[in-house]
Formats: sequence, structure tokens, C-alpha cells
Amino acid sequence: MTIAENVAEIRRRIAVAAARGGRGAEEIALVAATKMNDAARVRAVVAAGVDACGENRVQELLEKHEQGAYAGAPLHFIGHLQSNKVKYIVGVADLIQSVDSEPLLRRIDKRAEALGITQDILLEVNIGGEMAKSGVAPEALDELLTAAAGCGHLRVRGLMAIPPISEKSDGNHAYFCRMRELFVDIGRKKYDNVTMDFLSMGMSGDFEDAIECGANMVRVGSSIFGARPYAQR
Ligand SMILES: *Cc1c(COP(=O)(O)O)cnc(C)c1O
Repeated sequence: MTIAENVAEIRRRIAVAAARGGRGAEEIALVAATKMNDAARVRAVVAAGVDACGENRVQELLEKHEQGAYAGAPLHFIGHLQSNKVKYIVGVADLIQSVDSEPLLRRIDKRAEALGITQDILLEVNIGGEMAKSGVAPEALDELLTAAAGCGHLRVRGLMAIPPISEKSDGNHAYFCRMRELFVDIGRKKYDNVTMDFLSMGMSGDFEDAIECGANMVRVGSSIFGARPYAQR
């Protein structure tokens, strides 16, 4: 199967899952998780018509960006972002999906201000409560949203989550549903600089379940590109 054929198949499966919730396929954004795929393969996935490319290592993103790999598609940063790398990503990524602390928020805001831009971000939620994982605890979200309201050069566009690794495709159902609740609750409240447009959850193994629980952005890697040489999340 070619990359284009795989993208078409994922789109078909997205449409089926969306229809179960009474939604159309066009309401679900497909982000290709492009890590460990070279510029030629990234160009192929852009040509296949994904809605964005998501990269999770700064160095890798910058190299491929330099090669023009993402031309024609929005670029998202989906990995853990260290404060000292913020300067490389703000203004380069159209959406930073993985913001999970107030210091990081402020760094991004400051850098965006220096560039004279407004940076779109998502807040990453540690919905599984896993010690080793990035993401803000659900209980701490309100505080982070309040901090974001004071940052004039960024906009929080929604939430992102990477739930625990599960053996079953519906093993994270409860976490996905909880994310949906948070997304809806926050959307009802009024924070400055915050709109709940995107709920980014679901990967190759579970994107259909995530969509059924309300995701409108999925991040798919291995089902498009094939298995990576070694596991990296
Ligand atoms: C790699 C990655 C994905 C995609 O994972 P697959 O299982 O290969 O589909 C999604 N989100 C993030 C943050 C990733 O790093």
C-alpha cells in the first residue's frame, strides 16, 4: 500500500466513525504524525491531502522544515516541548499541541510577542494520571487556562491528550469520554484567549474510538507510514 492509499483508507474509517456520532468526515482533522519519516515521505503525505503534519522532535522538525517538506500543509508540534526550544518552534509551527505548564505558556507568549504574532496552542492533558507522562492534570487545567487568559500573544484553541497505552482499541474509552467532558465544560466557561475548537485525541490504534467519544482531530502515524523502526511516542 502506498502512503496515498493508506491516507484514503484512514479517511474512509474516519468517515464511518464520525457518522456513528452523526458527524461528517470533514469535521474531523487528520494530522499525520510524521516522526522518523524523511522529507520525501512527508511530501507524499501532504500530497495525499492530510490536514496537517505533526512532528514531535524539534531538531527533526527544523531539518525537514528547512527541506520544505511540509509545504502545502499546516505544521503542528505534538511532542514534549522544552522551554529552551520554544524559540525554534513559535512562529514555525501553526499549532503547538503540547503545552502543559505555566512557564511554558509564558515562554511561548513572550516569544510570540517578540515576533509580533499570535501563536495558536492546545493544552495537553495528562488524562491517565500517569507519573511519567507530560500533560497538565485535569484538576490544574483551570489554573492554566486562567494564566493563558493573561497571555495576549497566544490563543488556546483546544485540548490534546495521549492516554495510556492500551491493548484494546476501546481500552481508553473512559479517558476519551472524560476529555470530551472537560472540552465541553471549558467551552461553556469564558476565558479570554481561549476557544475550544479542537479536541485532539486518538492515534493509529484507537482513533475511531476517540472520534466516537468526540475527538475532532486525530494524530495518525504508523497506519499511514507503516511501523516505525522502533517505538517512540
Ligand atoms: C507518534 C505519535 C502519534 C501517532 O502514533 P501512531 O500510533 O503511530 O499512530 C500521535 N501522537 C503523538 C503525540 C505521537 O508522538
